[in-house]
Amino acid sequence: MDELRLNDEFLDFLNASPTPFHAVSTMAGRFREHGFQFLREQENWNLTQGESYYIIREDGALIAFSLGTACTEGFRILGAHSDSPSLQIKPVPDGSVQHFHQLSVEIYGGALLNPWFDRPLSLAGRVCCRTAGNALQTLLLDFKRPLLIIPSLAIHLDREANKSRSIDAQHHLAPIIAQVISETFPDFKAILTEQILKQYPEQTVSGILGFDMFCYDWQPACLVGLNNDFISASRLDNLLSCFVGMRSMIEAKGKGNHMFICNNHEETGSMSSAGALGSFPLATFERLIPDAQSRQISLSRSFLISMDNAHAVHPNYTDKSDPLHAIFLNHGPVIKINANQRYATNSFSKAVFQLLADEADVKTQEFVMRNDMACGSTIGPLIASHLGVRTVDVGAPSLAMHSIREMTGSKDPLLLYRIIQHFLTRKHLPGEEQR
Ligand code: ZN
Repeated sequence: MDELRLNDEFLDFLNASPTPFHAVSTMAGRFREHGFQFLREQENWNLTQGESYYIIREDGALIAFSLGTACTEGFRILGAHSDSPSLQIKPVPDGSVQHFHQLSVEIYGGALLNPWFDRPLSLAGRVCCRTAGNALQTLLLDFKRPLLIIPSLAIHLDREANKSRSIDAQHHLAPIIAQVISETFPDFKAILTEQILKQYPEQTVSGILGFDMFCYDWQPACLVGLNNDFISASRLDNLLSCFVGMRSMIEAKGKGNHMFICNNHEETGSMSSAGALGSFPLATFERLIPDAQSRQISLSRSFLISMDNAHAVHPNYTDKSDPLHAIFLNHGPVIKINANQRYATNSFSKAVFQLLADEADVKTQEFVMRNDMACGSTIGPLIASHLGVRTVDVGAPSLAMHSIREMTGSKDPLLLYRIIQHFLTRKHLPGEEQR
């Protein structure tokens, strides 16, 4: 696998995945193409050793697994999350102010709000509608065109803007979708219905019953820099990890017991049926290995690499990084450590990852948050505590986390991929050679 090819695939994946629902659908398509069989949680599973499968939990979560050997041998597990901070359209969004048709939005997750202004935005998400015979149908929508914009207030009307402008989330964020030229204008549901007809001409929709629609940056992901040193894109947190997880699972198919857990709702605290605090990972294990004792043996032999991006040192804000744990783009995957278990890494799990990296000839970096700043968290500690598996938290170094446009190094996807690939295909888990 070379860097150019992997990055091409990665940028395509980012552009095809504007929402968690689209990310899951994109991943499901790739798994299906590569022989993973679709399982429904609502049906009995007849699993065969040597085969690979994937399951979707409606609300933006996916688990894929390969059964290379007996389940009691344990699993090499990868974790990531499908969601990113965004602006979500409210259920009753339409407003008309001073000849502008605006949509009211709610902030999803810990979004950095300033970069959402003055940028052509598109819309994507899922819509639940009533179709022929009073059936309920869920459809994915993606407008794929510049449709919305949130203009800034001009500096002439706020001379202190560069020193002290703050954002009133209730009043300043509503994007403009159209100019109102007559008394009647199509409301948001009418706009959705028209888009459904465009994307699904065979559907006869008689009403929109619900929707989860998100604004997104219309500008596609791209390489940037004199030597294409960087990737600039929306949703790098955490679609970079989703992509590496999916790609590695496909590449290593049939070479062991592997599982890829991709949860939704990490950015809002993970408390949902599709989140890392939900039942999805454990319920899947209970069905894979119904006998409690055998399941426990398997889990205690398993190991989880939880992947989520890490804060690299910012050249204009170097004092925001711990001087001894400053990390850099293109310098290798980051092992994330926190004494208070905001990350699940401990000396053993760190050593496992380090040994894998050494064998794959990839350098690593170590991140610890400054003592005078609060440390973020991720899905690692949540899945580790639910499943009781040994876990390391790692991720690609990045800048501008939770902005509409984030940044990572153009070498970073491949460096993480190489270690993950080695993790999935190494004969024994490091430390288990004697078993
Ligand atoms: Zn994240």
